Amino acid sequence: MIRQSSNSMQRITLALAWGISLLIALLAPSTFFLVSYQSLQNSLKSQTELTVYAVNDIIVSNPKMWRFAEIRLSELLERPAFDRVPQAVKLLDDTGEEVAKNRTPLATPRISHIHEIHDAGTVVGRVVVARSLRPLLKNTALVALGSILCGALLFYFFRKLPIEAINTAFKTLEDSENKYRSLYETMKEGMALHQVVLDGDGKISSLTVINANPSCAAMFDGDLDSVIGKDSFELFGDTFREFLLEMRAVVEHGDAISFEICLPGTDYYYNVQTFSPDTGLIATLFEDITETRKSEQQIQKMAYFDTLTGLPNRALFYDRINQGIALASRDKSGLAVLFLDLDRFKNINDTLGHSVGDQLLIEVAERLNRHIRTSDTLARLGGDEFVAVINQLSDQFNATIVARNLIESLHASFSIMGKELHITGSIGIALFPDDGNDAETLVKHADMAMYTSKETGRNAFNFFSPIMNQKALMRMEIETALRLAMERKEFFIELQPIMCADSLTITAAEALVRWNHPTRGRIPPNDFIPLAEEMGLILPLGEWVLRTVCTMVKSWSDAGLPAIRYCVNVSSLQIEQQNFPELVHTILKESGANPAQLEIELTESCLVTNFGGSIPDIFGMRAWGIAISIDDFGTGYSSLGYIKTLPIDHIKIDRSFVSDISTNFQDQAIVEAIIAMSQKLGIKNIAEGVETSEQLEFLQEQGCDEIQGYYFHKPLSLEAFETLLRSQ
Ligand code: C2E
Ligand code: CA
Ligand code: CA
Repeated sequence: MIRQSSNSMQRITLALAWGISLLIALLAPSTFFLVSYQSLQNSLKSQTELTVYAVNDIIVSNPKMWRFAEIRLSELLERPAFDRVPQAVKLLDDTGEEVAKNRTPLATPRISHIHEIHDAGTVVGRVVVARSLRPLLKNTALVALGSILCGALLFYFFRKLPIEAINTAFKTLEDSENKYRSLYETMKEGMALHQVVLDGDGKISSLTVINANPSCAAMFDGDLDSVIGKDSFELFGDTFREFLLEMRAVVEHGDAISFEICLPGTDYYYNVQTFSPDTGLIATLFEDITETRKSEQQIQKMAYFDTLTGLPNRALFYDRINQGIALASRDKSGLAVLFLDLDRFKNINDTLGHSVGDQLLIEVAERLNRHIRTSDTLARLGGDEFVAVINQLSDQFNATIVARNLIESLHASFSIMGKELHITGSIGIALFPDDGNDAETLVKHADMAMYTSKETGRNAFNFFSPIMNQKALMRMEIETALRLAMERKEFFIELQPIMCADSLTITAAEALVRWNHPTRGRIPPNDFIPLAEEMGLILPLGEWVLRTVCTMVKSWSDAGLPAIRYCVNVSSLQIEQQNFPELVHTILKESGANPAQLEIELTESCLVTNFGGSIPDIFGMRAWGIAISIDDFGTGYSSLGYIKTLPIDHIKIDRSFVSDISTNFQDQAIVEAIIAMSQKLGIKNIAEGVETSEQLEFLQEQGCDEIQGYYFHKPLSLEAFETLLRSQ
């Protein structure tokens, strides 16, 4: 490139030098010649005229015989010219015959001038004056010589000197370009040049690589073609996009910026320096900092992770637990710290050696870690002590599920270096905020609770708080009993009447399941339904309720009792996991119950989480005559949108709103609004939990459709309900 421009510069100076030199060499002598020739002609002309005047005098004095005044004429013609330049003068008569001439010899070539002589209006003769051109040509040659010398000199100046200067300049430029090019091509940093395209708002809309050095291509294990012409964002990743605004400033103001990227799909890190070498261009220099990053990560790993198991160490654990506590205090959620110590680990170390012990710790860590969510942290504090922080605990009992999983994960034997090993663990649990407000206290209390587990026989967990232990114990007991309750036929159903708000006659009944625990007696559904849902036991239990209700509906209808609706509560798990409409269909067929007497109660949360899933199938059951109602309406924190899109038959206004309507204006307003809304939408409403006549009156005034509550009836045994219905 530089060679090319140097050559064209040379051609231009050559042409210029030739032009100027030739102009001087030709122009000066030719001008000199022309001017001198002109003056020569002028002097010839005036000399001829002078001679003519003189001859005229002789003619006038002797018009007849002037031709013969030889002496006077010769004398006249021999007179030297006024400028003393040698000249030949001839006098001719009117016939052209020579009358007289001077004797001056004249070198050739010559130039002459002729002038006529008049006498009384007629031409009587001619004077011819000639001069030699040789002196003029000699001088012109001298001038030409001088001009050529001048031209040559100018040629030297115009051609030689600038060319040398240009050559030196270009040489220096070429040298430096070569230097930079070889640097560009051999430097270990990748370099890429990007073409910037701006959109209408002046924002960068695209960046395209238009040039790159081999090191840049090597970043992609490819040749230059795999880089040039590619979209820069695609090539260098989204971090590039994050710096769009800064890059805009790079193009606009020429600021230089630097940032770090991790090349997409690799674990290579680069420090990127960005500058704008020209308008519309961005250059990026990529310095490979992978090694530095990796060693930083290594250092961090060493500082925050246990070298044996790879689990977080004490330092990282305290960092995480403090974060967890901050989050829990903000969200008002729970947090649990589980302290696990392996039982009799020292024996293994002492008898089988440290390498077996270490291997066992590695495998224990792996098994334990499988039961820890990514949002939680399991750490090794040292030796055989592990500690876990469980965040966002919605129910404190969930800590027992984790503890149990951790303990059970150790039950299968470990095969280490050809040996079958068995190990168990003891766990202590401390809960935030009940058992401590800071990390140290929580860990200390979990540790203390762990010792209780050791004392009471190991391979178990214990809460720090005795009350929690008692509750956990009870819950575990209930859980065990619940598993057996189905086969032991400990469940039964009660029916609670639902009345027409105007006529106060029974229009429906809600089936409510009860559990008769062998030792604890009646356990309220709120204490076992959530547990049954957690255990999945709600599926067979729900099916049993539905079958029992349908069988009863059929036998009572056969016995001629009024065909009222029977409402069955259905858990969202039943909707999610069973083919519910099919189950209902089967039960209806088996029992022979009239579908129009069946109503399914769903909760708002069930509708919201299952919307778009099995919900449309559920509503398909309405075609068989089954009614669908929304239970605990208003407590679900859900959007009301579903109410206008789903074909709902009834909404049940939650007891929490009804209980205070006679005293609380807000609750009055809510109940009023729900009733008005359901009327507008053509959905019937049922008020739950009516206990007083004031509540009843208020609801009747508002135009409530149906009423359920202790004011009329508590849930009744089937026999009691049958009697009541018959008496109606
Ligand atoms: P729910 O569906 O809201 O049932 C109404 C609850 O309110 C019943 O409590 C009923 O006894 C109570 N109740 C009725 N009237 C009054 C009143 O005037 N005052 C007061 N204080 N309470 C009244 P229960 O029987 O303890 O049932 C609790 C919850 O257990 C039910 O709430 C329901 O969500 C669930 N449940 C009951 N049986 C079943 C079932 O078979 N399957 C499912 N999945 N859940 C059930
Ligand atoms: Ca209900
Ligand atoms: Ca309810």
